[in-house]
Amino acid sequence: MVEEFTLESFKRFCENNRFMVVKCNNCGRIFLPPKMFCPYCDSKDLVWMEIGRVGVIVSYTEVHVPLKGFEKFNSYIVVLVEFEGGIRLPGILKNAKISDLDIGVKVLLEFSKDYPSGYYFTLQQPL
Ligand SMILES: [Zn+2]
Repeated sequence: MVEEFTLESFKRFCENNRFMVVKCNNCGRIFLPPKMFCPYCDSKDLVWMEIGRVGVIVSYTEVHVPLKGFEKFNSYIVVLVEFEGGIRLPGILKNAKISDLDIGVKVLLEFSKDYPSGYYFTLQQPL
């Protein structure tokens, strides 16, 4: 089955524990969120590609007033994580203290329907 290059498709892959990004066959770059054409060269020659689930924290913050949809999470840490090819994803980091975090710390992308985004992060290396 050919999956369209939409956020719905991305979420469906997450439900199947697969971290999929869109790859452009013309310029070779990968990107998220999914688009019907390449944001770098406008090509429509695209394919889905699975990439590794380990990334590094490039930004992080603690949220004390939850956003809509995240009310059940009292206070939580949001991280921006960069993966291979420059792919960046924001999400909740589970089981971590803000004082333990730093830029460059490795995290693992994990999938769960308990999160509105369909995924969350955990620390990948002991601190
Ligand atoms: Zn391209």
